[in-house]
Amino acid sequence: MRQSSVAVLAAAGVVSLVFAVQAQVPATSPGSRGAAHTYRPPRTAWGDPDLEGRWPGTGASAIPLQRLESFGAGPLREHPGPAAYTASNGIEWRGIPDGADILVGRPLVREHFPFVHESAIAVSHVRRAGWMDALRLGRWMLDEAVRNGARILRDQVIGVDSNGGRLRSVRLASGNDVATARLGIAAGPGLPAVLRMLDVDLPVFLELHAKMRFDDHLGVVPRSAPFTIWTDPVTDLGWSTEERARFAADPATRWLLEPFPGGLHVRPVGDERDVWLIWTFESAAHEYTWPPVFDPNLGEVLLRGFARMAPRAAAYIGQGRRGFVDGGYYAKTPENRPIVGPLPIDGVFVTGALSGYGIMASHAAGELLAAHMTGGSLPSYAEALSPARYADPVYQRRLETWDAKAGQL
Ligand SMILES: Cc1cc2nc3c(=O)[nH]c(=O)nc-3n(C[C@H](O)[C@H](O)[C@H](O)COP(=O)(O)OP(=O)(O)OC[C@H]3O[C@@H](n4cnc5c(N)ncnc54)[C@H](O)[C@@H]3O)c2cc1C
Repeated sequence: MRQSSVAVLAAAGVVSLVFAVQAQVPATSPGSRGAAHTYRPPRTAWGDPDLEGRWPGTGASAIPLQRLESFGAGPLREHPGPAAYTASNGIEWRGIPDGADILVGRPLVREHFPFVHESAIAVSHVRRAGWMDALRLGRWMLDEAVRNGARILRDQVIGVDSNGGRLRSVRLASGNDVATARLGIAAGPGLPAVLRMLDVDLPVFLELHAKMRFDDHLGVVPRSAPFTIWTDPVTDLGWSTEERARFAADPATRWLLEPFPGGLHVRPVGDERDVWLIWTFESAAHEYTWPPVFDPNLGEVLLRGFARMAPRAAAYIGQGRRGFVDGGYYAKTPENRPIVGPLPIDGVFVTGALSGYGIMASHAAGELLAAHMTGGSLPSYAEALSPARYADPVYQRRLETWDAKAGQL
């Protein structure tokens, strides 16, 4: 089969586009594959599990689309090709093929995705990837835990007694102490603070990320549109001469004149006409403060990126404050690889730095954490995610050339 990759298209100096969805569900679930330890991920040239990938515009290499197949997500179909492209009709997944389709050529792109800018010459459509409601999922998991005997304490961990390198108890803000010999830390963006309590040094940092819910009252994005990502950089947001001069004069607004990387995401949300707009260009490290504060120009930046992808959205330019901007922190490592496993204090384990992978990877991380904590058999990729990897000088050297955005949507 011909090797297709988004980078090939971008390198030819043309506009490329990827359609993808947030919550990628493999065609065979871990359950049907058997226990996690029977799964063998693809490997890099040096033998690590291959978790990486780059969007075009962020590096010379890109994700060969055939990799989907190697992850068990189904075949790649190229169009024009022997089989016709099957469009999706909203959330119905029955009767929709799995794997992915790549549509090459403007006429095909215009025929199936007419809302997208006419300069787009290719689309990759990842199929049957689905989406999930994070709050309902979390609620369900808590209910299941309680049903299976867990006791939930709503409190804040403010200290850990690990005198002599061994865990003794956890201190709570309510004043209670929980005596325990086992602690699993899953503090998300609270991880740097918890690591400080333990006096453990791991390279975890926070990025601030926002999204905006916007009333697409003109119906720019069809309700049946998939979660859509524009992968080309946007070099000019189309500011007026007066805006340019104003932004250039103020160091706090100069960033608005910089080129923006590819990766603007759009998806219909809710039952009426709203869309989510997300653009994960923020990469500066932030301290944790709650609630987070977002740049007042963010909504307008998102709308202008939206207009680059879907020209009819240009009608919304100037209405950035009409959207609802919300968000939080990504917890990450410099190589954008999660941390799961034991810490150097006897009895203390961690899962975290998942924000480049999201809730999509958190279940597998939780399963791995449980295997570590219960002395279960560990999968082949356990070592690559273990906090102990940072003690390896060879790994440390390799890290220097890795990208904190590698593999991130
Ligand atoms: C704007 C935004 C959009 C995102 N979109 C997606 C998406 O579309 N799809 C996706 O898969 N992922 C998405 N993510 C990423 C996803 O939210 C994270 O990867 C995921 O929540 C990480 O899970 P976690 O369990 O490690 O941390 P969290 O979900 O953050 O959970 C950590 C929990 O620990 C608690 N905690 C912290 N410190 C303490 C303490 N000292 N004591 C007690 N409790 C504490 C926190 O209150 C929190 O409840 C998004 C993130 C952001 C910020």
